[in-house]
Amino acid sequence: MPSTGILGRTLEKTKHSILLSPISVGRHVLRNRVIMGSMHTRLEYENDGVRKQALFYAERAMGGAALIVTGGVAPNWEGRIEQEALVLTEMEQVEEHRVIVSAVHAAGAKILLQVLHTGAYAKHDDVVGFSAKRSPINHRTPRALSSDEIEQTIEDFVHCSELAVAAGYDGVEFMGSEGYFLNQAVTRRMNDRADDWGGSAEKRMRCPLEIVRRTRARLGGDPMIAYRISATDLVEEGQTSAEIDAFARALEAAGVDLLSTGIGWHESQAPTIAYVAPRGAFAFASQRLKAVVSIPVVASNRINMPETAERILAEGAADLISMARPLLADADLVRKYAEGRADEINTCIACNQACLDRIFTDQTASCLVNPRACRETEFDGSRAAVHRRVAVVGGGAAGLSFAVTAAERGHDVVLYEADKDIGGQINLARAVPLKGEFDELLRYFRRRLELLEVDVRLNVATSAEQLVRERYDAVVLATGIRPRRLDVTGSEHRSVVAYTEILSGRVKAGSRVIVVGMGGVGFDVADKLTAGEREVGDIPQFLKHWGIDPEVRDQGGLATPTKTPPPRKVVMLQRGSGRPGERLGKSTGWIHRLELKSRGVEMYAGCVYRKIDDAGFHVDVQGEPRLFEADTIVYCAGQEPHTPMLHELRAANVPTHIIGGARDARQLDAVRAIEEGFRLAYAL
Ligand code: SF4
Repeated sequence: MPSTGILGRTLEKTKHSILLSPISVGRHVLRNRVIMGSMHTRLEYENDGVRKQALFYAERAMGGAALIVTGGVAPNWEGRIEQEALVLTEMEQVEEHRVIVSAVHAAGAKILLQVLHTGAYAKHDDVVGFSAKRSPINHRTPRALSSDEIEQTIEDFVHCSELAVAAGYDGVEFMGSEGYFLNQAVTRRMNDRADDWGGSAEKRMRCPLEIVRRTRARLGGDPMIAYRISATDLVEEGQTSAEIDAFARALEAAGVDLLSTGIGWHESQAPTIAYVAPRGAFAFASQRLKAVVSIPVVASNRINMPETAERILAEGAADLISMARPLLADADLVRKYAEGRADEINTCIACNQACLDRIFTDQTASCLVNPRACRETEFDGSRAAVHRRVAVVGGGAAGLSFAVTAAERGHDVVLYEADKDIGGQINLARAVPLKGEFDELLRYFRRRLELLEVDVRLNVATSAEQLVRERYDAVVLATGIRPRRLDVTGSEHRSVVAYTEILSGRVKAGSRVIVVGMGGVGFDVADKLTAGEREVGDIPQFLKHWGIDPEVRDQGGLATPTKTPPPRKVVMLQRGSGRPGERLGKSTGWIHRLELKSRGVEMYAGCVYRKIDDAGFHVDVQGEPRLFEADTIVYCAGQEPHTPMLHELRAANVPTHIIGGARDARQLDAVRAIEEGFRLAYAL
């Protein structure tokens, strides 16, 4: 008898899976080839942080990941990432780690402590480095360590590893990529020493190699030692492939069991994890390393679904796959895949909005598509005490999130959508170049609605009368927004259109376009209008576009970017005097600004809009009158809440809740919309 998944479908699809097959790493056997990569969550700063971390990691272990790598922990005081960050330097600190380790082991996975020294990236005043060279993303200049201090730092790494093993960890991962201390050590960019720790490539490698050698000598052969090597630095004065390959061989010889690949430094001017990078775009990096070492090699970056992982493994480009954000998005990714339920995976869409952008603004991480991430102790998945019959009006992000979460909690949900399909603003997001990952979000919601038997009524513009008549226990208005019209003389001119018309494709833009508004929507519209032909998933095109040399011939693996000329001229205007796109996400805003700049998009802030007529848009820019000629003027200057039926429902005493853009239309935000739907479903 073939084994069956919980939906009764056979496991035929996963029977020959490489991803699900066990693999030996050092003296350990991993139950499959999925590693949960290291992520900062900031859970450690919260009250009850140890229990929260333990549950967070344990859920990912229960969900099938074979090996968990913790967020980075510093081996000494100078190496911590910020003032309050975790260090592991004393035996008294071991006890808390035991709680996390036990939870993961009980769930059947192994766990490594990531030892992370931030070096010149540190956000505190004791910042140190190999040289007194400042990172462009830190205003602090590091103090160059003395030779004795480097010796002490090596000892700190080894001691931290000993403490990790004492806490029960199966080993450690040394963080040697993304531009952190050990990565700084091996590059001319951050190490111009002339003593035994710099000068030649061999001397620059000496510190990390000594750390590995001494750790292996002190720990013996059992604990796993993983090293996250920078497989391409993507910065000037980074390493060449010859240096990286030689370093990889030396790490293996020094006692590393597992080589994990890191891509790019934090200040790289090429996207390495955002949605603009195609899935599996960096498999070339692990493939190159696999050719030079015999220990298992891990591929990472933009591998968010099992099929991509399987392809990389089948092509021999890696032995294991690291997934970090995809397991934030869905703790059960591996289990669902193993049970033939890949269509139920909540896929990471590489937006960075609720994970990295929150970390960069000192908030606890969560996930746009999974608001429960990092809040596992708060939202326990329990069913509601009282089951209600609830109508949801609007099948956009907020309404969908509420509908599926409420149904999962046992409520009887009817979803009304006036359009012919669900999605709302998600459908507009999908139309933005390279934002195809939003398709996965819709697929996920569709499947959950189906499995939970939510009564979805499409093409139904319901009324308050109908909702009252059907005697729902509660009504949820998730009716979204309407674009705010331009408040300027001549706004009725035929050239003026709403962004919804452009993104939906209902209106084609001309050759000279003005985009009014420089928020996220304005940037999306300008991107769509200037992108030219870009194919989702086209890896060679992506690498050329961003100047990434997969051969890593020159230092840093940089090549001259090949940009395609934009199909039209676009000018962006805003009333406010703030920096264009200042509210874009920290981790992706720079990509948008760089792209639009390279396409010649002009941006003007501090505008006073005078009038629109056949000649174009008359505007005062910083007090100077200007005429911008245009055949299309797209307004993306905010939106209004759309709350039909609200007064009638309240007058009829129907308990009515408003979520998403309908509640607050400022800053269209899928993170907030999905979270509000989710939270309301827990509150009902
Ligand atoms: Fe992925 Fe976005 Fe969730 Fe981060 S917030 S894990 S990038 S879907």
